[in-house]
Amino acid sequence: MKTYQDLLKKLRIFRQERNWEQFHKPKDLAMAAAIEAAELMQEFLWQNEEEVKQKVKQNKERYADEIADTVVYLMLLADDLGIDMYDAIENKMAKNAKKYPVEKCRGKSTKYTNL
Ligand SMILES: [Mg+2]
Repeated sequence: MKTYQDLLKKLRIFRQERNWEQFHKPKDLAMAAAIEAAELMQEFLWQNEEEVKQKVKQNKERYADEIADTVVYLMLLADDLGIDMYDAIENKMAKNAKKYPVEKCRGKSTKYTNL
């Protein structure tokens, strides 16, 4: 079974083998994640919904790579900061569920402060 912990272990080894921990300060990992997310956004820039669908269909790997780049940096950042991503996501989902009760927000894109 593929697990998050196995993936994290592979990322740690990949980084250790290259002696890249020295470059992976929290600030730099946060910036790298944002830059990779921007690369993903660049793929969608000026495209309408149909064009995006076509581009993704033609080259899904390109999008998978950019998404992976972004997530990898966030995984390393969380790991370095001692954050358990499973717990972090569960905690945030619980907070979001309180902010966005189904009965108030279903089908609406309104921010919680305006519900
Ligand atoms: Mg990239």
